[in-house]
Amino acid sequence: MRTIAAISTSPGIGGIGIVRISGKNAFEVVNKIFKPKNNNKIAGYTMKYGYIINPKTQKIVDEVLVSYFVEPKSYTTENMCEINSHGSNIVMKEILELCLENGAELAEPGEFTKKAFLNGRIDLSQAEAVIELINSKTEKEAEASINQLEGFLKEEINSIKSKILDVLTDIEASIDYPEYDIEEITNENASKKLKEIELSLQKLESSFKDGKIIREGIKTAIIGTPNAGKSSLLNAILREDRAIVTEIEGTTRDTIEEFITIKGIPIKIIDTAGIREANDEVERIGIKKSRQIAESSDLVIAIFDSSKELSEDDKEILDLIKNKNSIIILNKIDLNERKIDENYLKKFGKEIIEMSALKKQGIEELYSKIEKMFKINEINLSDGVTITNVRHAELIRKAREYSIKAQETIKNSMPIDVIAIDIKEIINCLNNITGENATEDIINEIFKKFCLGK
Ligand code: GDP
Repeated sequence: MRTIAAISTSPGIGGIGIVRISGKNAFEVVNKIFKPKNNNKIAGYTMKYGYIINPKTQKIVDEVLVSYFVEPKSYTTENMCEINSHGSNIVMKEILELCLENGAELAEPGEFTKKAFLNGRIDLSQAEAVIELINSKTEKEAEASINQLEGFLKEEINSIKSKILDVLTDIEASIDYPEYDIEEITNENASKKLKEIELSLQKLESSFKDGKIIREGIKTAIIGTPNAGKSSLLNAILREDRAIVTEIEGTTRDTIEEFITIKGIPIKIIDTAGIREANDEVERIGIKKSRQIAESSDLVIAIFDSSKELSEDDKEILDLIKNKNSIIILNKIDLNERKIDENYLKKFGKEIIEMSALKKQGIEELYSKIEKMFKINEINLSDGVTITNVRHAELIRKAREYSIKAQETIKNSMPIDVIAIDIKEIINCLNNITGENATEDIINEIFKKFCLGK
């Protein structure tokens, strides 16, 4: 495998910058550009102090610390060096260029981690955990990622896999030695074990409900008729000091999604601002659009102007949140002009919060209600493995379906080799999670999402 180098710290100015080198020739590359104060033999897990010197010009580039990791005890399992320089973009670029001129090749995004995977130090689920950890937006997400990086998911998958392999071994034995006539016993055992496997997979699959929220946030839409106070509420939420806001492209063309964290609750707000302006048939299209958005949300916040009577459009909004996780907001209570029909609203059995978005009253109550509704702070990640990754969730779902199919195949007294086919499919799905038989396309797709230098 090639010897690679990249700047591993994020672009921008910082106290320290790190250039990483990994591969068979890592130490040779560094030797050419680094003059350490002491020239002791290279040992693993040591650091040397010295200077990066351009071998052509003898110019000192920077005063650095270089850490040495001797194979196989490194991130990639290869010889590795990390050059800790001052965090100047110019210095780091120069050091990287010197590495490239002296035998290293520029790393692709995620290539260090890809090496760790290809060299067998971590499995694919752990490699995915690295990127999830780097990208995590909340404490819970970081915690779930570190659990996955520690191998919790890998162990669970391997334990399920070893149970399936037992079933397969039994079945193959009865295919190979039919004269022993053990098929009936084999089938009974296989059914029992397949049921256990199905339940383990189901447990993993249902953890994805929490995992998805941890990862993607509670997808929340604020809907209401024009002037009800949607923008004011959104502003009040986004201006919260504690809210971290990241803009992400919305799933529908004219929406923006903003990721915020309040009280540790990850919320993805679908910002519908601009929907009205985009259309001529103002009100009708507004409602139609609201319906679509509400349908794809985990939570709908329906906001009404308490100083006005309920309009037909308001009633339509109430109708569309009827069967949704939703909260009703009575806005503009500061006006003290209640005209809204509260009894009508109460019929929907939703939480009702009185608010003044303008004066930022009632916002705390809204957060508490969301917290209570989603029990997000009660999600206990130490209880077991939590699936946060869509790819994993999909493969687990498929594996579970095959485990059900295999049980049916047995029940229908199908030939035993037909059962073996379903069982092999289960193993195939699980191997895709850990990466044992993941195709190159899948692997490339995963590592493409990494940042440079990781
Ligand atoms: P949207 O059309 O639903 O986005 O509503 P806006 O947030 O733009 O608000 C419409 C108007 O109502 C603006 O003039 C706001 O200042 C006003 N407004 C919004 N919330 C309140 C509130 O709680 N109290 C009062 N008095 N006015 C509000």
